[in-house]
Amino acid sequence: MPSNVVRFHYTLRDTRGQFIDSSQGGEPVTYLEGSGQIIEGLESQMKSLTAGTKAQLNVPAAQAYGVRDDRMIQKVARAVLPLDEFQIGDQFQTGPDRHDPVVTIVAIEGDQVTLDANHPLAGVDLVFDVEVLDIRPATADETSHGHAHGPGGVHH
Ligand code: ZN
Repeated sequence: MPSNVVRFHYTLRDTRGQFIDSSQGGEPVTYLEGSGQIIEGLESQMKSLTAGTKAQLNVPAAQAYGVRDDRMIQKVARAVLPLDEFQIGDQFQTGPDRHDPVVTIVAIEGDQVTLDANHPLAGVDLVFDVEVLDIRPATADETSHGHAHGPGGVHH
């Protein structure tokens, strides 16, 4: 069965109602079904929505950015950080690729810095308010490329 390309707006909060992120007021998100572009736990629930509908979807951490893993917290020497100045709470990417992990500085003691490589939303149960703008069948090119083209998609 051919996949669809879905365009939607979202507002993301945690289960206490704390605001995390939103696409409202900016570009909507466009994704090709099955491409892994949005988190699995959200995509599977969005399959039941039709264009023009709004819904609130609960995505537990395990189906979103995963549970927290204490083994992903480690101490390194200050000298190895690619930063001259930093403070607790700063985040940086560990490599040049956009998929390289983002680490957060969680402690600084002398010349030892503690880094947490858990995703900032690991362990967080998510509540999405979504508004589906439109759904269309993917083109053959989109299906073979594995991503959406056009507005909000890949341009090339
Ligand atoms: Zn393409």
